[in-house]
Amino acid sequence: MSLEQYDLHTHSRYSDGTTSVSEIARLVKAQGLKGFALTDHDTMRGWEEGRSAASELQLDFVPGVELTTRLGSLGVHLLGYGFDSADPRLTLRLRQIREARSHRAEEMVQRLAQDFPIDWEEIVANSSESIGRPHIADALVRQGIVRDRGAAFATLLSHTSKYYVPNDMFDTVEAVEIVTGAGGVTVVAHPAAIRNDEVLDRREIALLVDAGLRGIELRHPENNPQHIPALGQIAKDMDLLITGSSDFHGAGKANRIGDETTDAATVYKLREAMRFPN
Ligand code: AMP
Ligand code: ZN
Ligand code: FE
Ligand code: FE
Repeated sequence: MSLEQYDLHTHSRYSDGTTSVSEIARLVKAQGLKGFALTDHDTMRGWEEGRSAASELQLDFVPGVELTTRLGSLGVHLLGYGFDSADPRLTLRLRQIREARSHRAEEMVQRLAQDFPIDWEEIVANSSESIGRPHIADALVRQGIVRDRGAAFATLLSHTSKYYVPNDMFDTVEAVEIVTGAGGVTVVAHPAAIRNDEVLDRREIALLVDAGLRGIELRHPENNPQHIPALGQIAKDMDLLITGSSDFHGAGKANRIGDETTDAATVYKLREAMRFPN
């Protein structure tokens, strides 16, 4: 592995990771990487801590976010990097999304609470401003109902569970436009994650490229290798940058920092398109 590598997709306690941002920076340093991006779900709360932790360890910090979006019937996670965190259109939309996240999580908890001893207020007290299924999973673990987050996602919280409530408010094209409009660049996260039943096709990716999409996260621990050659060809044809990242969530997932990485030359190209690259 070349010396200059980045991990461009990590989650902290500001959303549904289990570690602090400073701990992420220490792990990045321990892996010998040059830098990392913090991409908490729907929040930029960790950016300041990311910048200072990185500078203390002489790491390069890329500010980011991960947005849960929907393109037709397909769930698409979108990474946004290097945008103005005070952009009015973006901050308004993110506030709406966090509210929708919270309502949706509360609805799932209400359904679960009919059969299991879990309590919404207790979950809120143990989560962040960006609440999601991982926080519900943690409550199920605390109550001894399931062993860990993975077991919760495989059973009670799965999208086929009767307790599941979909989270479908943000259109992918709109999300790409909003992040681009705020001066950032966008990358499709884990486009072939195993939990996806379907994968973006050429026409759909072209739609996103028209809206400003710049990259695709082809290297990700959960990408199904079967879909990678076709997606790689599309990326090449559309001049998309190819990234690799771990999607670290601390103890919440098996993914470790540096499991997949992105070279400095690619980060440089992404940065050239960012108006707020630091
Ligand atoms: P939500 O946004 O509420 O639908 O929850 C999705 C989040 O849960 C994403 O951040 C995923 O990384 C995380 N997640 C999905 N599957 C699992 C799993 N099996 N174990 C732990 N976390 C998961
Ligand atoms: Zn997450
Ligand atoms: Fe994701
Ligand atoms: Fe993620």
